[in-house]
Amino acid sequence: MSLLVVGSVALDTVKTPFGQVKEALGGSAVYASVAASFFTKVNLVAVVGEDFPKEHLRFLSRRGIDLRGLEIKKGGATFRWEGEYDKDPNQAKTLKTELNVFQEFKPTLPKDYRKSKFVFLANIDPDLQVYILKRIQHPKLVACDTMNHWISAKRRALQKAIKKVDIFLSNDAEARQFTGEPNLIKAANKIVSWGPRLAIIKKGEHGALLFSRIFKFLIPAFMVENCVDPTGAGDSFAGGFMGYLANCSRLSQTNFKKALVYGSVLASFNVEDFSLSSLRRLKKHDIAKRMKLFQRLTSI
Ligand code: AMP
Repeated sequence: MSLLVVGSVALDTVKTPFGQVKEALGGSAVYASVAASFFTKVNLVAVVGEDFPKEHLRFLSRRGIDLRGLEIKKGGATFRWEGEYDKDPNQAKTLKTELNVFQEFKPTLPKDYRKSKFVFLANIDPDLQVYILKRIQHPKLVACDTMNHWISAKRRALQKAIKKVDIFLSNDAEARQFTGEPNLIKAANKIVSWGPRLAIIKKGEHGALLFSRIFKFLIPAFMVENCVDPTGAGDSFAGGFMGYLANCSRLSQTNFKKALVYGSVLASFNVEDFSLSSLRRLKKHDIAKRMKLFQRLTSI
């Protein structure tokens, strides 16, 4: 089944100890959509300005991503984010955020998108996440991600959004910030008590936890020797996770667990180069190979 993704489409300026890129393709919805496109058909809902390079649109289309829900705002400027990483790849420092065309974005969904069964609300203003969700008729599985910016700027709206979703994804620092709990087990339990059936806490190079009232699961991250640019790791994780599930015939515990590993594997490829460069080169058989290696590295 197809996956509806809403989130940011951005031009990112990023500096890491290994180099830098200026106004490169980025955005939560882009990383998530491209990662998910290895498993299922993706419908993207977002907005860009007229300044958004056409070559990026061509790349997304070539990945089979449906762009009927991507508005190109006349005279508008695309969302821009500027960030920096020091030696710790888990700590992104935001230098600048320019919402631009996202400030007043009220999308009209193509009619068939309203029937989406799988929805991923990638990191964006939680009011927009709720706005989209209200327009989907009977979704089967909805996941939502966020970031420190929205937790502090729009806490109330985010609280409202997560009540309506099945899965809430965050990284460890965001889970602590959102819940006020320093301990991640307590933080995950608190998130689940607020509404979502599942809380997923990503711990960067230290793996991920999945918590529900019924089962718990934890995985290490795939070992990556060359982490060049962590930007989009969380989004490609979520895209891989939701893309895999959208293609499963059953939402069983086993499939949730496998999806978590697929998410981790997609994120591991993404961090090996700047922007979308690594995911651009990726082939399905690379994913299968890394899945097998992951299994070998984590079983006794
Ligand atoms: P991640 O590294 O997975 O947490 O996400 C990085 C992506 O999030 C970048 O490509 C940015 O363009 C995007 N981003 C940064 N800040 C925001 C924000 N406030 N709202 C939406 N997307 C953002």
